[in-house]
Amino acid sequence: MFDKSLARTIAVLLGAVLCSGCASKPMSSDTPPKAADAEMADYADRFYFDHCPLCATRFGVRGEAIEVMHGERELRFCSPSCVEAFHHNPAAGLRRIDAEMIADQRPFYPLKHSQYSAESLPDRPIEFIWGNRLFRARNEEERRRILADPADAIVRLDRAVIDAQRPTYGMPDKCPVQGDILSSEQRIDIVVANRMIRLSCRRCVRVVRARPYQYLAMVEYANRAEAERRDLMDR
Ligand SMILES: [Zn+2]
Ligand SMILES: [Zn+2]
Repeated sequence: MFDKSLARTIAVLLGAVLCSGCASKPMSSDTPPKAADAEMADYADRFYFDHCPLCATRFGVRGEAIEVMHGERELRFCSPSCVEAFHHNPAAGLRRIDAEMIADQRPFYPLKHSQYSAESLPDRPIEFIWGNRLFRARNEEERRRILADPADAIVRLDRAVIDAQRPTYGMPDKCPVQGDILSSEQRIDIVVANRMIRLSCRRCVRVVRARPYQYLAMVEYANRAEAERRDLMDR
């Protein structure tokens, strides 16, 4: 069992030794990120699975999850051995993580057309993950455009997710963090993993961005209940 700071130190050391992609941004809190990085970190989703992407162990079973920064991307693993396994072959690890993330987010992807125009997505668009977020591009040119300015692409995608999911959102009046009933001026809609979450305040936004999986599960449950309710009413 490792405490969090020790686990992080191990993750940083492993990253520095084994993976050049991860070594550039260690998780240590005493090296403040550059402004651009901090801004990017606001756009990129934190890692949101409730389980280790390599061995499927639920987080918490073997102590705190270990966070690893791989470029702009946060990943979490269950144990030092899974961190080591990832760094042993990051390309293979990312292929596996991306495949699971793409399948997970595809049902929530809000657009049937390009992010930039009304042109339809083909039957098999180019699907890729940036900052733990699924994008679907019409073609290679569009993929490059997204990657050239991912912050802009995330803002566009967030807007599309909120437009699509707001009408059927399952917790329209309740903040999943505080449980408060929301007044009409107290609503902040954010997006994590192509799912909308409505929150009461900036503090709750920070809480959800730091630990998304807990709140995604609550929202998903509420969305399902709301869908069933609508279904019954339609009969
Ligand atoms: Zn694991
Ligand atoms: Zn709040």
